[in-house]
Amino acid sequence: MVKHSTVALVVAAGRGVRAGGGIPKQYREILGAPLLRHTVRVFTDHPRVDAVCVVIHPDDRDLYDDAVSGLSVLDPVPGGAARQDSVRLGLEALAAHAPDIVLIQDGARPFSDEALISRVIDALGSHAGAIPALALSDTIKQATSGVITATLPRETLYRAQTPQGFRFPGILAAHRRCQGLALTDDAAVAEHEGLDVAIVAGSEGNMKITEPDDFHKAQARLGGGDFVFGQGFDVHGFEAGDHVWLCGVKIPHTHKLEGHSDADAGLHALTDAILGAIGAGDIGMHFPPTDPKWKGASSDQFLIHAVHLAHEAGARLVHVDVTLICERPKIGPHREAMVARLSTLLGLPPARVSVKATTTEGLGFTGRREGLAAQAVATLQLKPA
Ligand code: MG
Repeated sequence: MVKHSTVALVVAAGRGVRAGGGIPKQYREILGAPLLRHTVRVFTDHPRVDAVCVVIHPDDRDLYDDAVSGLSVLDPVPGGAARQDSVRLGLEALAAHAPDIVLIQDGARPFSDEALISRVIDALGSHAGAIPALALSDTIKQATSGVITATLPRETLYRAQTPQGFRFPGILAAHRRCQGLALTDDAAVAEHEGLDVAIVAGSEGNMKITEPDDFHKAQARLGGGDFVFGQGFDVHGFEAGDHVWLCGVKIPHTHKLEGHSDADAGLHALTDAILGAIGAGDIGMHFPPTDPKWKGASSDQFLIHAVHLAHEAGARLVHVDVTLICERPKIGPHREAMVARLSTLLGLPPARVSVKATTTEGLGFTGRREGLAAQAVATLQLKPA
């Protein structure tokens, strides 16, 4: 069992049909991806989160597999009758990993930003639990039958959000003891057991999708930003050898490709396309061929770095299209493996990854089989301004 010190537990076992759409809301699409995928990606992308586990309804397994396709997640855990049961079952499943910290997140809360999550983690250095929360700006009234009975002092009141973070052994024990009590969030479970739970700054944007209108708000929030495009081109010549690397897949061949790294022209073109879309120079600037560090390097690390830079620049990869230009090797038999590999490297569903091949009808250097070429186009969407 691999040790993960900080694990995110995403709770997505609810039936949640109030938001409309005919399927549980966590699987409804926003901007081409299920809501749950957006939620999970926040954690798979977070540098301080080691692993992500999702609690699902057993009936939703197919929806779930589609939603997280290509993302690095632990096996899902079947949930229980109520949210509190689902969290407890998720914690029991994580006990085998013995994490230090667990961040418990609602599957329908896709906008928890990296800094907010880091604030929760930081607060766990000195508290058993920590939650993001918002101070109240409206005056708070108490009413009975529609008539005000009191005006409450709002200075000590907060609106609780998620992810709620806890030191793992404490919250697992608390959930075990609170089984059967109907508590509305995990902080309430911790409070019930006398654990100290700190409040850190939440954010207005960290909304939970509940009502049909929330989908429109979320859509506007996730969308709205400009689309940007980048293109890349790369060539490598053949030399003596017995295999080539193309789009992250090793293919037996009569020659190998000549280059400082593994000479994967497909990944190089794609890396340049992503760098181009965010105006971050080219692959040679980031990974100089003169640097011995990159000798024989596997080019997937170049691509992963470009994706990371795009993420830092506030851009989200939407689609890629790669064209390989060569007479040999035949690309067709390997196309599916290439799509699968790129899908994993890019964190995109396979339907958003295209790999095509063509020849130059015997003309030019690719026609003479002296080398091959690759070109790529990447589409990214910027965060709303
Ligand atoms: Mg190259």
